[in-house]
Amino acid sequence: MKWKNHVEVARAIAKALGLPSELASILVEGSLQPDREADKVIRIGRRHMLYRARMAHHRADRRFVMDLLWKARRARLDDRDADALWCLGRAIHYVEDLSVATGPFGVWHDSREKDLAGHRVSETAILAGVRNSVNSPHFVWECVRSIAPHPEPSAALFHASMYAAAISASVMGDVRPSPRLVGELRRARRRHKLVFLPMAVIGALVLCGLALLYQPWLGLAAPVLSASILLADREYVYMRVEGRWFGIGAGLK
Ligand SMILES: [Zn+2]
Repeated sequence: MKWKNHVEVARAIAKALGLPSELASILVEGSLQPDREADKVIRIGRRHMLYRARMAHHRADRRFVMDLLWKARRARLDDRDADALWCLGRAIHYVEDLSVATGPFGVWHDSREKDLAGHRVSETAILAGVRNSVNSPHFVWECVRSIAPHPEPSAALFHASMYAAAISASVMGDVRPSPRLVGELRRARRRHKLVFLPMAVIGALVLCGLALLYQPWLGLAAPVLSASILLADREYVYMRVEGRWFGIGAGLK
């Protein structure tokens, strides 16, 4: 996507979120940063050697984008809105580029970007994104995961704007957890402590007992079994991630 498009989307989002002009400028600058200085990701190369590679914008690593969004949210929780908007800007750059289909080996990259430059950002798309946004990390991840490349420029820009706006509204959304979320997290934690934690301890003790009696290697499997039992409590794992979005840990602090 051209800088003109990135700037327009960021400005429209800043307006929809009611950001003051200095913070709006940070979001705009952040959304241009990946084109100024390439982000690097670790990849596994030949002979399983790790190496640092430049992030491909139109095929960006979605986990990397989500990590940037978590960074933005943590800054938001710490009341560092300028840092939050800088990271958010960088992340939405990739969200927007991911919406543009550039063809096999990027053969249509230049022509598609040129076509895009002739299109204006739709306010409807920005407002739809903000209105339908949910203040939740699972919602944000669903957005990041679902972005698909569009070959048609106006559709690409519409989707890019809508997803970028929805994600931004969630990241910059209220930092206070709803009483419902606190209640659900508390219930999930209680159930985890009463059911899954004892099961994990008993499972580990049984394996250690069997290791002493029969095969010593069974002892090594004890921590794996405990971790698997704890992670099998999907509801608790889900709720903990939701809680982290609002800065509340397992201890509900
Ligand atoms: Zn780019």
